[in-house]
Amino acid sequence: MLLALADATGSHMARQALASGGHTVGEARDAQGLRAALRAEILPDAILLEDSLPGADSLELLAEIKRTHPLISVVLAVARPSPASLLQALHAGAVDMLPYPLDAQELLTAVARALERKRVMQGWLKRETGRITGPLSRRISEMESILGQVDDGILVLDKQYCIVTINQALRSNFGLEGAELTGRSVDKVFDHPALLDALRSEDSGERQEIQSPQGRVFHMRVSRIPEVGTVASFHDISYLKELDKLKGDFVNTVSHDLRSPLTAILGYVELIERAGKVNPQQLEFIHRVKSSVHATTDMIDDLLKLGRVEVGALDEQAPVDMRLLVANVMSDLQPKIQERNQTLRMRKGRSLPLVMGSRSQLNQLVDNLLGNAVKYTQEGGKVYVTLEVEQHQLILRVADNGPGIPLEEQARIFEKFYRASNVGEMTPGTGLGLAIVKTIVENHRGRIWVDSKPGEGAMFTVVLPVHEPERKAMPARERTAPQKAARPKAK
Ligand code: ADP
Repeated sequence: MLLALADATGSHMARQALASGGHTVGEARDAQGLRAALRAEILPDAILLEDSLPGADSLELLAEIKRTHPLISVVLAVARPSPASLLQALHAGAVDMLPYPLDAQELLTAVARALERKRVMQGWLKRETGRITGPLSRRISEMESILGQVDDGILVLDKQYCIVTINQALRSNFGLEGAELTGRSVDKVFDHPALLDALRSEDSGERQEIQSPQGRVFHMRVSRIPEVGTVASFHDISYLKELDKLKGDFVNTVSHDLRSPLTAILGYVELIERAGKVNPQQLEFIHRVKSSVHATTDMIDDLLKLGRVEVGALDEQAPVDMRLLVANVMSDLQPKIQERNQTLRMRKGRSLPLVMGSRSQLNQLVDNLLGNAVKYTQEGGKVYVTLEVEQHQLILRVADNGPGIPLEEQARIFEKFYRASNVGEMTPGTGLGLAIVKTIVENHRGRIWVDSKPGEGAMFTVVLPVHEPERKAMPARERTAPQKAARPKAK
């Protein structure tokens, strides 16, 4: 019970009467004190408000209390009660009115009525809230049990990256069973830099592969939901990975086993020419056998290379000087360039940082891109290589003025075995070169795409994160994947 009384004598008497009735009493001597009491953690059940309380008009104060704390009953104490003032008090929301000087018995009766009114109001409010929110709570618990049953992991975060929902599948895969996680910051719950990077990444909607501590692999998809925050789903693709590995192992074994008989065939075909005179038709057949064997050997070699890079392992990682690497590949290509009367030039930035990765894989990458540019560009054509650095990323561009690639096929040229319609039957190739290149780029956490106008040439852009030893010490949140440099188009 709060006594908002300016009159010290009245206040003293009321305090004693209420204490004898078993009530706990607080006091406020002016409007400011009353407002402060209404901001406190424990609120009064009822207020005895004197009409001459300094600081505000009592009826306005009464209306204010009813607006902000409708459950608190207010009894008005007035010096000169009249039917008109009673009516005004009732309109403003008072539950009772007592005249001065206060009578102890009347006060206790009025307070008992006020408290009873509050009890009734509270009961009604509880029933109403239950009626309105009941279906909602049922719906929420239904949703929670559905989320608990699904095999995919689900994580919902609010705008501050605190956990709103985390389902059972995700908990069990990341060893988070049992703990209360709702409301906790996601950084404090997951010790998984790649997962945290993906959650904060600007590339909302992109899929990413994430490995759980137990070794399972998930396709993680992050979506931003306006007004809610972030939702991430985790689909277990471990079995697909397993299948992929089995397929890779199979292709590797078969390729190895095929290579030796092919080498034998080639050896014997060469011997036929030396064994005795062959007529022109036989010579033509020998050449056909040779070129078929060469094409098959190329295919096997590419399959084996792809198998090796697909394992993904950057086992022999080292800081690599891409400038030197490009220069070496260019010099290896010189005989072909001269034979085809082409021009091959390199343009490079002044100081180029190193790239951390596998020298042999990066060499393969440059070799395939430059090899294609030379192969597909007509005699007398031009090939340009540029190397530059932009925002902690090394950008390699290989451009030519060859036939270019049809627009509708550009997205497919990185697929295995895909050869675009710009390539004639006679142009040798396996359709695996760019698949190898793409896998190598991904192994190095980079990006690749092509720009090409048919008839005007093609330009392949590779973006690789540069080697910055001091950035390694950064906290997980600040470690980001390479940005889309120069052009936001993927692949
Ligand atoms: P391959 O060269 O063995 O056919 P790739 O995977 O290296 O296989 O390339 C796939 C296809 O992309 C090629 O068949 C060709 O159609 C196209 N292509 C690649 N590079 C170029 C280029 N520089 N100019 C035009 N087309 C290209």
